[in-house]
Amino acid sequence: MSIRPEVPEKSLTEMGRERLRALAAEYGQPRYRADQLFKWLFGRGVRDLDAMTDLPKGWRQQLRDDGYTIGRVTLDRVRESVDGTRKLAFRLSDRAVVESVLIPMGDGHFTQCVSSQVGCALACAFCYTGTLGLSRHLTPGEILDQVLLARDAAPPDAQVDHIVYMGMGEPLHNFEGVVESIRRITDPDGVGFSPKRVTVSTAGLVPMIEKLGQTLPVNLAVSLNATTDEVRDRIMPVNKKYGIEKLIAALRSYPQAFRRKMTVEYVLLGGVNDSDDDARRLARLLRGLPVRINLLPWNPFAGPAFARPEDARVRSFQDILQRAGHTVTVRTTKGLDIDAACGQLGERPAAA
Ligand code: SF4
Repeated sequence: MSIRPEVPEKSLTEMGRERLRALAAEYGQPRYRADQLFKWLFGRGVRDLDAMTDLPKGWRQQLRDDGYTIGRVTLDRVRESVDGTRKLAFRLSDRAVVESVLIPMGDGHFTQCVSSQVGCALACAFCYTGTLGLSRHLTPGEILDQVLLARDAAPPDAQVDHIVYMGMGEPLHNFEGVVESIRRITDPDGVGFSPKRVTVSTAGLVPMIEKLGQTLPVNLAVSLNATTDEVRDRIMPVNKKYGIEKLIAALRSYPQAFRRKMTVEYVLLGGVNDSDDDARRLARLLRGLPVRINLLPWNPFAGPAFARPEDARVRSFQDILQRAGHTVTVRTTKGLDIDAACGQLGERPAAA
């Protein structure tokens, strides 16, 4: 089966601004009508042509008669954690399910973590999604629908002010789909996020990091998780192709569009990558780079035999990095009780 998604020719949600303008022209409509349609679709998230009241009634009827549709994703289920994290399961038109997470940041603010693929090909050993394999990329419309439909699943008055591409999948493997979705998320007439509030995370597809830097001004996060190629090869197979040295070189040349620090994610696996020597090596590897380091004590799922490190080990690791002058946070685990924490996304098989 192809990992390229089928993009229905007549789904309006799959059309960017230029394609909508061409469509309007096909119907003899002026360009500004396409821009109005763009705002309804991606700014307001409206899914019913009847509600688009400033568009000519006749054109709306023509579009309907000619089989144009809006939205291919439905919000299937919302689960809420005791800590306020909400995990949203979205059903796609081919019945596949992807998940997205609303993470509370305090004072009614939320960060949304979105998925970019059904499953993932990169098979990182500590990640549940990696055990699923890759079914396919998501289309731009399917990524966007996660953001638009999350509005219905967020608590009243919630403010979602940061989008992170850290859900299911390796975003840079689905480069085109992710870039096109970001264009609409950051378009002032679309969802309207500042690019400063969008972060793309990667496990280290080095050529694509360079390409992203040349294509869009967004924040970059890199999932590093080891300080030697020997360990990284074992827990992140992508390292066999793009080793640590190449990855760090790509970070050194990534353009800092907003003078913001890049994020380096480091999942701490007890006894694997969490020693004081690892911390010292990590400090050296990242020396001089504008990064903030997020330490994530591993979130268990039924599967590989990793251990979550003791709190004292985590503190020691953090201390070494801080003494070397790095900005380090230990990410509080959120949504653990609903399998919404980092590395846990993906539909579980139904219980027998
Ligand atoms: S950590 Fe990210 S890149 Fe690695 S398997 Fe999981 S989803 Fe894929």
